[in-house]
Amino acid sequence: MIYLDHAATTPVPGEVADTVRDVLVHQFGNPSSQYGFGREARALVGLCRETVASALGCGVERLIFTSCGTESDNFAIRLATWQGRHTGKHIVTTAVEHSAVLEPCRQLEQEGYSVTYLKPDKNGNITAAQVAGALRGDTVLVSIMLVNNETGCVFPIREIADVLKAAGSRALLHTDAVQGFLKVPFRADTLGADFISISGHKIGAPKGVGALYLGERVKNPRPMLLGGGQENGLRSGTEATAQLAGFAKAAELRRANLGPALAHMAEVKAYALEQLLAIDGVERVGDGIAPHILAISLTGYPSANVVEDLSSQGICVSAGSACHRGKASHVYEAMDLPKKVKAGVLRVSFGPETRKSDIDALAAALKKHRDTRFPML
Ligand code: PLP
Repeated sequence: MIYLDHAATTPVPGEVADTVRDVLVHQFGNPSSQYGFGREARALVGLCRETVASALGCGVERLIFTSCGTESDNFAIRLATWQGRHTGKHIVTTAVEHSAVLEPCRQLEQEGYSVTYLKPDKNGNITAAQVAGALRGDTVLVSIMLVNNETGCVFPIREIADVLKAAGSRALLHTDAVQGFLKVPFRADTLGADFISISGHKIGAPKGVGALYLGERVKNPRPMLLGGGQENGLRSGTEATAQLAGFAKAAELRRANLGPALAHMAEVKAYALEQLLAIDGVERVGDGIAPHILAISLTGYPSANVVEDLSSQGICVSAGSACHRGKASHVYEAMDLPKKVKAGVLRVSFGPETRKSDIDALAAALKKHRDTRFPML
């Protein structure tokens, strides 16, 4: 199989799987238990927090573990609106966020909030000036992703933080960095965001684990889950020790080889651009600079059919975010792409393991599809 869908999820390295298994089998204690075996599990959670916090660039006291990026996004939005409840009911976000941000925003609209959805330009970019123009006195949350999961566009979070500061806004800034963590360089403590969401399974950890950074402007956060008081009282529930150990091991492995891995992905992306754009009928979609995501279109050839055809040849790419499962993506919709370009969009995404020969196979399969299938009218 040729796996070119690392933005959907990533393979779990053997070392990470071994770590997970080891915890499941040998360190299965409950971190809240008082005896030694429980204390060992508690110590393990502490070590995992240190490793992930250090990879994110923040202190351990700023990081809580969650079950996934979606939960982190939902939690951040709920926390920001709770903190701002006496200030107002306006939110600024973008039309190209992941549904883990858009759906909570839509629910808040039903609860009386007004939401400004910033539209990207035709290349998929959003500017800090757009945010400045949308801010209001009653804005309580600005939620803008760091890296778009369908175009690879990197949004200017640091600049947006400066815009909020310059405007004297009380709005809290959330960034969904699920596609940015260990893919584009940033440190949580200097990015300027008050909340940062990350997810384990995008960096080689098992599914079912994520984290949320809470900055110092977040005051008296309201718990997401009430119960035994785990995660500093903010998210009760027995810690998923094995997943946390897998998250920490995956972060450690990625971080240890970060420079070469990012350079390799950038090189593979440049090669893919060269090879794929040389195919008659293929064009680039957006100008995302993240090293691991490239959006293209086999113009006029419906992407669901292309994905299916490639899949039958053992090649995995997606027609956009994995969450859309065949529905037209709101991201490409918001970019106002011409109808036939939009119909044929494919997202190709890479990992440290991707080889240039994988791209060659994709290029050959795309040519074959173009030459053997009929385009839409
Ligand atoms: N945000 C972005 C930008 C994503 O790409 C994803 C997953 O595809 C998520 C959030 C959701 O993360 P998770 O699958 O961990 O819930």
